Amino acid sequence: MALSPPVRRLKSRPITFIFELPTEKLTEFYEGLEKGKVYASKCKKCGNLTFPPKIGCSECLNQGIEFVDVQGEGVIETFTHVVIRPPSFQNHPTYTVAVVKMNSGVTVLAWLTSAKLGNVKVGAKVKLAAVRSEDGQPSYGFTLA
Ligand SMILES: [Zn+2]
Repeated sequence: MALSPPVRRLKSRPITFIFELPTEKLTEFYEGLEKGKVYASKCKKCGNLTFPPKIGCSECLNQGIEFVDVQGEGVIETFTHVVIRPPSFQNHPTYTVAVVKMNSGVTVLAWLTSAKLGNVKVGAKVKLAAVRSEDGQPSYGFTLA
């Protein structure tokens, strides 16, 4: 019986990516998180809500937007429990990410914290709020309502 030849594999060095994202045109969004607000952008022309906020409307291409606080309750449309974590979260416990249709009409993707996995279901009510990430950055996330 012949043995199959060993598979040759090349291994890369570990790679670290650090992104610095420009935030000048969305300053109000980030300042809002610091103040405990979670802003979506709302088109002043057609009323389209977008989250995360954009500097222009993806529906009518209007550049005039305003920021509206979309905190409050919503309903889980889908979720996933992340067990196989990306390299930057290898030292973090497993976590849950949910896509939620907010009562305001906008759809938000964010981490769902403080929930037993068995209690997380499509259709469950959650609450969106401004939070601090573990590294102290202003962020936003869901908890079960
Ligand atoms: Zn618009």
